[in-house]
Amino acid sequence: MEKQRIVILGAGESGVGAAMLAQKQGFEVFVSDFGAIADRYKEMLVELNIVFEEKQHTEALILNATEVIKSPGIAGTVAIIVALKKKKIPVISEIEFAKRYTTAKTICITGSNGKTTTTTLTYHILKKAGLNVGLAGNIGHSFAAQVATENFDWYVLEISSFMLDDMFEFRADVAVLLNITPDHLDRYDYKMANYAASKMRITQNQTAADQFIYCADDEETLKALKGAKINAMRYPFSIRKKVEEGAYLEGNTIHININSKDQLTMSISELALQGKHNIYNSMASGIVAKVLDIRNATIRESMGDIKNIEHRLEHVAKISGVDYINDSKATNVNSTWYALESVNSDVILIMGGVDKGNDYDMLKDLVKQKVKAIVCLGKNNKRIHEAFENDVDIIVNTFSAHEAVQVAYHLATKGNTVLLSPACASFDLFKNYEDRGNQFKMAVKEL
Ligand code: ADP
Repeated sequence: MEKQRIVILGAGESGVGAAMLAQKQGFEVFVSDFGAIADRYKEMLVELNIVFEEKQHTEALILNATEVIKSPGIAGTVAIIVALKKKKIPVISEIEFAKRYTTAKTICITGSNGKTTTTTLTYHILKKAGLNVGLAGNIGHSFAAQVATENFDWYVLEISSFMLDDMFEFRADVAVLLNITPDHLDRYDYKMANYAASKMRITQNQTAADQFIYCADDEETLKALKGAKINAMRYPFSIRKKVEEGAYLEGNTIHININSKDQLTMSISELALQGKHNIYNSMASGIVAKVLDIRNATIRESMGDIKNIEHRLEHVAKISGVDYINDSKATNVNSTWYALESVNSDVILIMGGVDKGNDYDMLKDLVKQKVKAIVCLGKNNKRIHEAFENDVDIIVNTFSAHEAVQVAYHLATKGNTVLLSPACASFDLFKNYEDRGNQFKMAVKEL
């Protein structure tokens, strides 16, 4: 029989990992990237003797694939994907592919906001509990590469909706859906229902032996759940109402109750990750840990000692009585809402960048209450001016992190907070959100 040909589109972390695993499994492998491939990935491909091309997609080398693994960054509407679909060649994600070659159990975490935080926290708890666990998905090293080289019993996977769109047979042992709020709508025909349906795929193929953990306070999740057929055991979490099985907040105490086993209680003041959004994230991670029968003492200790996660409400410095906070990862309006909500002082808000069709209405109340000045950090800040011109006296344009920090420094007085929480993507002025956060931190350190 002829060797099956796996073509991989996109040579980033997930693509190169998939190539590694496909080669190990004995497939004929070809990698194609329409852009330039980063040096370190090129070196890995060369070392592995994997055939690849960059800055082009050669149809003749792609349309003869048995199966195609596509990077989540490539939209389903680009020409090469349309051509593949027309030829009925299956297009799948790296996660779908890698899962075929491991018997490890997977905890899969998705949502519009909080994925990285919850994934990191869950991994931290499991690791502290002594489980043989890996961390992958949208975070750290490729899942496929780890399946090829490691031997974990468990994986905590951060899963984006773009990955879910190319997952079909995949089944999560434990699925977590944190929330559904508008984001990436450009990839979903600007229809919230399409985006919500994509997120709900986290439950696909689950059986009664699996678990589904979700936020009972999230309107869109509840809406999506109405028509959905979910076979897994459901564990909701809420800070507004008591739930039987799952997690809830009573006063300042989190309660986690799973199968009436030894209930976990913990004061929110003991949580290392502060802010309302992190109560949700901690509850979700706590339920996962309880489902896995991890001891209450270990869960409490892990939730109390996890280190702040870079670029997510990361405290950078206090200078002349002003706190500087880096929340560069807030790339949509909802996450900026939570960031503002968590600050208890007057704020100089640095925001802006690539606007993905944002609706700023939900920020207005908090902006009126807390924001003294907005420092725009983006190439085109028109929509921010329009949205807030009646709510804030000072709105200034800046075009670099350094300039934004300098302006914010002059506007801030003792007791204020300078918060970088952009509500927008970073690609107009920066390489990515990490670059934006790092440049912000550097500029603060130069003050
Ligand atoms: P993701 O990986 O889904 O983008 P992160 O954990 O990186 O999420 O957090 C991104 C930003 O979103 C944080 O800086 C914070 O402001 C906000 N955030 C975190 N968790 C939540 C949540 N549960 N609900 C709403 N916003 C959140």
